[in-house]
Amino acid sequence: MGIYETLGVSRAVEQFGESVLDTLRAQFAAIDETAEYNQGKVLAAMRKSRVSAACFAATTGYGYDDLGRETLEKVYADAFGTEAALVRPQIACGTHALAIALGANLLPGDELLCPAGKPYDTLEEVIGIRPSACSLREYGVSYRQVDLLPGDEFDYDAIRAAIGEKTKLIAIQRSKGYATRLSFPVEKISRLIAFCKSCKPDVICMVDNCYGEFVERQEPPDVGADLTVGSLIKNPGGGLAPVGGYICGRRDLVERCAYRLSAPGLGQEIGANLGLLPSLYQGFFLAPTVTAGALKGAVFAAAVYEKLGFRVIPDSASPRCDIIQAVELGSREALLAFCAGIQAAAPVDSYVTPVPWAMPGYDDEVVMAAGAFVQGSSIELSADGPLRPPYAVYFQGGLTWYHAKYGILMSLQKLCDAGIVKL
Ligand SMILES: *Cc1c(COP(=O)(O)O)cnc(C)c1O
Repeated sequence: MGIYETLGVSRAVEQFGESVLDTLRAQFAAIDETAEYNQGKVLAAMRKSRVSAACFAATTGYGYDDLGRETLEKVYADAFGTEAALVRPQIACGTHALAIALGANLLPGDELLCPAGKPYDTLEEVIGIRPSACSLREYGVSYRQVDLLPGDEFDYDAIRAAIGEKTKLIAIQRSKGYATRLSFPVEKISRLIAFCKSCKPDVICMVDNCYGEFVERQEPPDVGADLTVGSLIKNPGGGLAPVGGYICGRRDLVERCAYRLSAPGLGQEIGANLGLLPSLYQGFFLAPTVTAGALKGAVFAAAVYEKLGFRVIPDSASPRCDIIQAVELGSREALLAFCAGIQAAAPVDSYVTPVPWAMPGYDDEVVMAAGAFVQGSSIELSADGPLRPPYAVYFQGGLTWYHAKYGILMSLQKLCDAGIVKL
């Protein structure tokens, strides 16, 4: 019995996958070249900071004189080309990292501007777009938003008009998240940052870098971002980091973030590593390769479903700006079947069937497929989507390209079994 058959994938699905794969060789080669470049970037940063076995020692309590923690922060700063970095397991998730960066650098009377549309859902309460205790709004920080023009272009005139005396910080999200726009390439973010700084030279430009790390050769700091923020259970953790977030950027701004995370006066000097550093170092080392695998999975999924006539965002030929792939499946049954296939391909909890549930903060039921080593990790193979037209599934991750491929073909098998797709 062949290995695909063992996993319940028919000859027809396997062969369909191979025929699609044949068309993607050039794209895969380009992804590998980017990974090689970024591997070099990480390696150079680790060499420069003289990472040694002593950096892997656990610290407890206050965590004073934590060589490993300080060195890891130098490595991140160097790899991202920034003056400083805050990289901590005490940062609970991406939203936490973003909330720290915003809360630390916006004072009462200041205004936050999102010049490229609504930010990620979880930031709505952080900012106070949806009322919440301890939101920026409660602390007297106002908020303004400029929406994108049709075609996802920046509305430069409206942005110029929105930047005023109070505008202190501009937040730009690299990945589309759950929005319907395309994700922004770093080059496009570059133009937006340059424009905002031409309007107001001292405005702080922050980029939500979630899902974008190591997808391109450039990162937001290379094009003038003052703060770049992300989660360690996405790309830069390489699948090994069990928790954490990072904030890279200008030293004075990162220092304020450290004061906000711990306490004024304590800042970066405190925070035990609890023995987690080996996985943070090794995960960062593997991150360019892991991200490349996830990217190949995204491109493959796009090509497979495009060939079957589904609308896919982005399409299979577009350059990639993050690891997310959306497929509009068109029906509730198709969305559930897709997610069942991804779940069946998981190394953990492969035997469960994902069922829709009413997730807090969402109007519609949501279905999620994930069987991850790290809870909620979305650099691991995962898929989710709200049960409403056009029944789009958001697919991401895969610690290895091979795993992503098995997952995609197992999702296709479920769609075939349900009679939704005919090959
Ligand atoms: C994942 C993500 C976040 C943060 O989400 P957490 O679940 O809190 O880690 C923020 N912005 C974007 C674009 C994201 O993809």
